[in-house]
Amino acid sequence: MNQLPPEGELSSVDKLDHSVYKTLLESTKAIPWKIDWKTLQFAYIGPQIEALLGWTPESWVSVDDWATRMHPEDRDWVVNFCVSQSRQGSDHEADYRALTRDGDYVWIRDVVHVVRDAEGDVEALVGFMFDISERKANEEQLVRLQRELEAYSYQDGLTGVANRRRLDDYLTQAWEETRRNTQPLSLIMIDIDHFKEYNDHYGHLAGDEALKRIAYALSCVATRPRDGFARFGGEEFMWVLPETPGPAALQLAERCRREIFKLQLPHAASPLGCLTISQGVATRIPAHDDSLASLLDQVDVQLYLAKRAGRNRCSASD
Ligand code: GH3
Ligand code: MG
Ligand code: MG
Repeated sequence: MNQLPPEGELSSVDKLDHSVYKTLLESTKAIPWKIDWKTLQFAYIGPQIEALLGWTPESWVSVDDWATRMHPEDRDWVVNFCVSQSRQGSDHEADYRALTRDGDYVWIRDVVHVVRDAEGDVEALVGFMFDISERKANEEQLVRLQRELEAYSYQDGLTGVANRRRLDDYLTQAWEETRRNTQPLSLIMIDIDHFKEYNDHYGHLAGDEALKRIAYALSCVATRPRDGFARFGGEEFMWVLPETPGPAALQLAERCRREIFKLQLPHAASPLGCLTISQGVATRIPAHDDSLASLLDQVDVQLYLAKRAGRNRCSASD
């Protein structure tokens, strides 16, 4: 005959449930835990914690053990956030890097449920820690890819230098800064001479190769970090030179001209027998009602003058 369990003991059904629950809890990948709110001590933590972080379950005594085993950059906000949410009695979750016994870090998502007593006061916190390191690695990979994509979208596909889109952004930014700090902004517009004939004579692929070499050589001429070089379009390039007075910009343009001439890329249909460039230089300290468009017009006019004066030269506005 079955004996009834003594009062206060678990029934056999409850015992079964208890062991099933325990087995279930301890066989999941998520790590269950319970903290007594009054003492801030761990009442329970799943044994899986040891496999994940290397710390034995017995070593998780109080919330201090939880807080100190957290990446210093995450600690303050996570502890403050979890304490304030728990005080309010709100369920919550937080992602942070947990310290392993070997000194590494593992990304964890802690999902917390607030347990209240009959009076409605917070009695305990129960939760699950999830290992989200793989998800985080994927997210970081995604961010990296996004940055790469952004970089590509600013890069000219043929020459590898900044493209027109990047140039437009940079020009606008440089113009606004120039307006604020009343320093001169200089532009150099560069155009390859007789490039149509070059293509006609050597073919479009050879033309592409020449463009690459010229773009590279030009891009090495200025070295200040704020000087910006880009392909303006076709066989035209531009240097954007913040805080640069006209004479310094003209000197730089002259260096560009010499560098390209030194390459001695043969061009049978050109009077000099090699590829050369013409350049317009313009400088401006923007007046109140000045516009970037008028500076671009000015540099374009100078380029036209350099072409008209015989090519392979620079022309600068006074
Ligand atoms: P100028 O001395 O007056 O500048 O004469 P030009 O022949 O260089 O001027 P024009 O504007 O008539 O020709 C520019 C040429 O540049 C025409 C075009 O086919 C060539 N071009 C533009 N983009 C590319 C490119 O990406 N690859 C190649 N191979 N050629 C290009
Ligand atoms: Mg052109
Ligand atoms: Mg040209």
